[in-house]
Amino acid sequence: MGKTAIITGGSRGIGAALTKKLGENGYNVVINYRSESSKALSDNIAKELEETYGVETLVVRADVSKYEDCENLVKAAVERFGDNIDVLVNNAGITNNSNWIDIKREDYERLIATNLMSFLHMTHLVLPHMVNHCSDKQQCNIINIASIGGLIGVINQADYCASKAGVIGLTRGLALEYAKKGIRVNAIAPGMIMTDMLRGVNQDELKALAGTIPQGFIGDVSDISGAMDYLLKAPYMTGQVISPNGGIVLQ
Ligand code: NAP
Repeated sequence: MGKTAIITGGSRGIGAALTKKLGENGYNVVINYRSESSKALSDNIAKELEETYGVETLVVRADVSKYEDCENLVKAAVERFGDNIDVLVNNAGITNNSNWIDIKREDYERLIATNLMSFLHMTHLVLPHMVNHCSDKQQCNIINIASIGGLIGVINQADYCASKAGVIGLTRGLALEYAKKGIRVNAIAPGMIMTDMLRGVNQDELKALAGTIPQGFIGDVSDISGAMDYLLKAPYMTGQVISPNGGIVLQ
């Protein structure tokens, strides 16, 4: 049935670029979305991949912050493409952009559920399928989208930083645990990439922050899909964090 990849939050922003790269690499892609407004975006990408690369696709609505929704997502993937899941890309994420005194408890709980718990849920549900068929000769990949927020502190993003540092810890732990099973687990920690997530923050703050990037410009989604492309084809890479960020973590 070919190779299969699942991606969370695959309809827009970085996720859309990653979804397209998976199709370009010949994977049948299970594209997850959450918001009703993202259904049409997902359907359009699915159609594009089928027509351009001849792969098969499945679009599944799920709020991956909820374990039951993740169960339904993985079940739908296995029903459609069989037990052979080769790639999981954990990409779904949100920000709150709030100082720590004013933030509401439900907001930081929702962020942790989305940015960290969904990665735990999805790996917990997908790994049993991967261990059945992955090996040194037929490697599988888990790609976790972290952030420079997991590497350095960012003002008004304490919950986000905590979630992304957690993603990096999860990546390293799982990489070690499944290294001998042919399952490589790596993280990508993007710097500032122009998507709706960045468009949503205070534009004055954004401008000031962009001025601190050593290379002097904000990155593009293709910087992240390029990093994923490399990781998918790098048989000796596991447990690593690669960070396309214009040098912002150097100072
Ligand atoms: P974005 O444009 O805001 O897109 C966020 C994506 O996450 C959407 O596809 C959204 O799906 C999905 N999502 C959010 N909550 C979800 C949930 N509960 N269940 C399923 N899907 C959910 O953001 P982005 O910039 O592409 O971010 C993608 C990833 O990159 C995130 O993990 C983010 O933390 C990370 N990142 C981004 C930057 C940056 O500068 N942009 C930097 C570092 C790291 P719907 O549209 O269906 O709601």
